[in-house]
This record gives sequence, C-alpha cells and structure tokens, in this order.
Amino acid sequence: MLASAQASIRQAARNLGYTDKEIENFLRPEHEHELTLKVSGKNYPAYRVQHSSELGPYKGGIRYHSDVTLDEVRALATLMSIKTAAVGLPLGGGKGGVAVDPKDLSTPELEELSRDYARQLAPHIGSKKDVPAPDVNTNGQIMDWLLDEYEKTVGHEDPGAFTGKSLNKGGSEGRVVATGYGAAAVLKTYLESTGQTDKPLTLAMQGFGNAGYWFAQKLAEDCPNVKLIALSNSKHTWLKPAGIDVRQASHPEPRPEELPNLEDAVVLPSEAIIGQDVDILALAALENAVNDDNVEAVAAGLVVELANGPITAGAAEKLNQKGTSVLPDIIVNSGGVIVSYLEWQQNLSAEHWSEQRVLKTMTSRIQAAAKAMIADAAQKKITYRQAAIEIALKKLIR
Ligand code: NAD
Repeated sequence: MLASAQASIRQAARNLGYTDKEIENFLRPEHEHELTLKVSGKNYPAYRVQHSSELGPYKGGIRYHSDVTLDEVRALATLMSIKTAAVGLPLGGGKGGVAVDPKDLSTPELEELSRDYARQLAPHIGSKKDVPAPDVNTNGQIMDWLLDEYEKTVGHEDPGAFTGKSLNKGGSEGRVVATGYGAAAVLKTYLESTGQTDKPLTLAMQGFGNAGYWFAQKLAEDCPNVKLIALSNSKHTWLKPAGIDVRQASHPEPRPEELPNLEDAVVLPSEAIIGQDVDILALAALENAVNDDNVEAVAAGLVVELANGPITAGAAEKLNQKGTSVLPDIIVNSGGVIVSYLEWQQNLSAEHWSEQRVLKTMTSRIQAAAKAMIADAAQKKITYRQAAIEIALKKLIR
C-alpha cells in the first residue's frame, strides 16, 4: 500500500516537473513516533506518523487493528496530506495506529490502552499541532478517553485536540452521515458536469455500512435517475433489477438483510457484485477490492471509491486502459475529514453549529473540490486521481 501510494504520488509529481529530490523530500514524513503501550502485562506497538504540516496541523485518524504496521501508518499519513490539500483544508496529514485486536480486550483494558497512548503522545499533539480522529475500530468513546487523558497530562483544556468526539464532549453534528453524504455530493457533481442528471443509470454497491448506507440514502434523494439494483456485504450480493429502495429501511444503517422488499432479490456470492452489468459501481467496503484477479469482470463505466484504496494500482491501470472512469477516494470519501475540520473550528471558537450548517458547509467544500478535479482532468486529459493528486501537490511542494 505504501509503495502503491508513493508510486501514484511520484507519477503526478513528475508530471508537474518536480525534481526527484523535491519528490523524495515530500514523501519523507516530518516525524514518526514509535511507542509501546502496556495493558494487563502485554505490550502493544503503537505509532503516530506526522507526514506534512505544510498547510496546517497534522490531521488523521487512529486505527486499532492487529495488522497495523509502521509502513501502513506511513502510507495512510501521506494520503491524508494529499486528501486535506486536495479538498482545500488548512490542515496537514498524519495517521496513528495501534497493533491490537480490540476484541481481545475488555472495555476497561481498551480504555487503559487508549489512555496510555494519549499520555505518551501528549507532547507531540494538540489543537495547533496534530489533531487525531477515529478510524478503523475507534469511535467517539475512544476519542473522549484520549482527550480526557491528554488534557490531564498537559494540564489544560484543549477540546480541539481530537475530533470525532461524542456530542457532549464537543463533537460535531453531522459526523455520522458526513462520508456517505459527501460521496453522494461528489457523484452528483460528476453527473451534472457530464450532463447525466436525467439519464437513467443503474448502480451496484459493495459494502453497506456507515459510508455505503448514507451514500445510498442521499443519492435516492438527490439523484433519482440513479437506480440501486445490487448491493453486497461480506457474505452475499443481492440483485434486484426492479430497484432497491433504501428509504424504506426501518432504522438507520440496517444490514442488507434487514431492508424490506429484498425477499424477491436474487442472492449471489459476495464477489458477484464486482461484475454486475451496471453503469456505476460504488466500492464502500475494503482495500484492494478490485485487483488483478477480478478487474476484467468490472462492467461499469464509472467506479466510485468510498473505501480507502479499494482498487490496486495494477487494476486502476487496466480500468483506465479500457476507458472506465474512477472517482477517487481522495475526494469521494473526504466528507468525514471535512466535518472533522468543522468540528475543530467549532472547538477553537467555542461554538456548536446546527447539523444543517455543518452539512451545507461540507457539501459546498466537497463539491468545489470535485469540480476542480473534474475540470483539471478534462483539461489535461488525465485520470481524476492524477488530477486530485496534482492539485494537492501544487499546494504541498513549494
Ligand atoms: P462499516 O464497517 O460500517 O461497513 C463496511 C461494510 O463493508 C459492511 O457492509 C460490511 O459487511 C462490508 N464488507 C466487509 N467485507 C466485505 C467484503 N469482503 N465484500 C463485500 N462487503 C464487505 O465501514 P464504513 O465506515 O462504511 O467504511 C467502509 C470503507 O470506507 C472503509 O474502507 C473505510 O476506511 C472507508 N471510509 C469510511 C469513512 C467513514 O466515515 N465511515 C471515512 C473514510 C473512509
């Protein structure tokens, strides 16, 4: 993943005429913190990589996962620098990770692990230095523990030191829907700029969790010409050519099998989602979901990346050769980090904004970034990913 992230950045940087030295300087993180957390007599390796502060304090999530390595955290930190720059935020890029499977820990142990991480990181973070947020297997409760321990360690209040907190600890309205709604706004912008708002289009979605569900909800509202006909989770694909109406769900973020009117859908293996004969394929599940083994099966003319890195570099090249457009993760899933930025702004100014204000601000920012990417790609005849990276690099490499 690190190699693949760096390869696409190197290519875009060379296109812009940067020297090898400038490119390698940019790729090298400014700081790397390697820590050991201790809980119930066991040690857990932990990291925080602070990649670039060229545009503002480092920003990026903290993941708890047994597969976390320094290389993975480096790659994710680098991509955060690109993402915050591409969407025009006054923030840099960073990422944190702890090599732990949270399912192995009790709740008090998880709290102790988080507090140890905050104590050790305290000298290096803060609302003006580095602002972590949730990522895989971390949530508002964990951010609240981290903030509490950080404030105790440094001896003063600093609610803007973490984002993704719970609402009563200074969290923002709109965080839950942000990534899905932002992705829907990017797709809507794309359809408008390519004159496809009235054209009937079909959609298949891999993954129907937080990002996927709210994306589907918002699309149903804002892009009625797009009909969802297939969706999948890790076990099955459900195919219903008549259309799947997610607005009839009885509660938010249902599992696919909890959706009404799916009884008459055709049930296929999970992997079948990739090859569905649709106009748009949205990837909202995992990294490397489209790879050398299944890329030939992709029939959609447009792929939308809600997940981080859902297409391998080799598969992306093949999609490009056969004329499939890809709206890249850097822009598509940035609604979450934009709302994180708005939470940070609210904390710094001791304000609490309405959900409507937060989502309106997020939507106009992400649409502006999508428009800039689409225009740049059309003008230079490059992919949307290259355009987004080039827009970011022009701000980051001086
Ligand atoms: P989630 O855990 O809420 O949902 C994940 C979904 O993917 C579930 O429906 C799950 O069943 C499905 N899934 C898992 N393995 C699968 C497989 N092999 N095949 C098909 N489906 C599979 O996660 P999420 O928050 O919706 O995140 C999804 C992706 O989006 C991740 O890559 C995440 O990093 C990325 N992302 C999410 C956010 C956010 O705010 N939620 C922000 C940025 C990026």
